[in-house]
Amino acid sequence: MERLIYLDNAATTKTAPEVVEAMLPYFTEKYGNPSSVYSFAAGNKEDIAKQRDIIAEALGANGNEIYFTAGGSESDNWALKAAAEAYQNKGNHIITTKIEHHAILHTGEYLEKKGFEVTYLDVDENGVVKLEDLKAAIRPTTILISVMFANNEIGTIQPIKEIGEIAHENGILFHTDAVQAFGQVPIHVDECHIDMLSASGHKLNGPKGIGFLYIRKGVKIRSFIHGGAQERKRRAGTENVPGIIGLGTAVARAVRTMEERTSQESALRDYLIERALNGIPYCRLNGHRLKRLPNNANFSFQFIEGESLLIMLDMKGICASSGSACTSGSLDPSHVLLAIGLPHEIAHGSLRLTLSEETTKEDIDYVVDSLKEIVSKLRDMSPLYEDFIKKNS
Ligand SMILES: *Cc1c(COP(=O)(O)O)cnc(C)c1O
Repeated sequence: MERLIYLDNAATTKTAPEVVEAMLPYFTEKYGNPSSVYSFAAGNKEDIAKQRDIIAEALGANGNEIYFTAGGSESDNWALKAAAEAYQNKGNHIITTKIEHHAILHTGEYLEKKGFEVTYLDVDENGVVKLEDLKAAIRPTTILISVMFANNEIGTIQPIKEIGEIAHENGILFHTDAVQAFGQVPIHVDECHIDMLSASGHKLNGPKGIGFLYIRKGVKIRSFIHGGAQERKRRAGTENVPGIIGLGTAVARAVRTMEERTSQESALRDYLIERALNGIPYCRLNGHRLKRLPNNANFSFQFIEGESLLIMLDMKGICASSGSACTSGSLDPSHVLLAIGLPHEIAHGSLRLTLSEETTKEDIDYVVDSLKEIVSKLRDMSPLYEDFIKKNS
């Protein structure tokens, strides 16, 4: 393949060279177990503590509120299951949304089987949670509100500060899945009244298999993995030292580059959106036009099958996604696109393009030109499109 254009950064990102470089010594030289007493291993404990502080600073938190996990899914599972268990004396009701990642939705379904009641809030046509709906859903038994910071498919950013205020005023714990937002938008846990926050290394140019859960001091939450005393006895197991170093390095880098990177990405994203909407007929943008992640564009093309589109883009060296990576392979249209009110046949013809700091204007031009050609080719083969043209001519 001559050309490779990677526009699937919401699925995973390239590990930054400075991250790999920072990790390497921890495989070959500084491989000691951080719990060991000899001085050879002692530095590792301090190096881990440093990463905790870097991450905490990025959120306006304290180092001892950061718990390392194996990634976003684990953090989401921990937050929901452990909070549910810890607060079940107070009540059994949890509020979340219909557009969460499956790490939240499937955990919610699991908790329902265990006797908890879960409300899945609707969103508006842009994918934004309606604050009035949230207020109306609160019961005396509500113990947890979990709303994602930004959506992984359509990029919509939620009114997290307002949601946090509602949770806080009602004395309800507030968790947010910030896996997509962390590193792309500034987040301050106190300003937004966030009690727990999930994030993942591989979504911000860090390594895979490492993430963290922020747990505000004072939140009672049970241990997730029992065993040794690591992570203040809440998540046992020898630390993933190279992963933690990589995560901390990636977070420091994300904070340092955020302003420049996101303004460059959002300018290219807007160029992409404008070219696609103006150049391709029967194409719509999904998600909020302005309140969206700087690198996300999500389109629906009428009379098109998303999977065919992906295959033909792949033949042109373009990596994209039709829904979330976890659901592709299944024939159900994306739950997020259905939640914003798209009919099945339009949701099926959807495409997510997520940019990186390496994306260029030439890449975007090539992608839009390819899209135009492919969409028109696929429509020429579509009986639905043929019917539509006949009816409208
Ligand atoms: C990717 C993603 C996750 C899962 O993170 P992993 O580190 O891959 O387990 C959870 N939530 C959102 C919003 C994501 O985009």
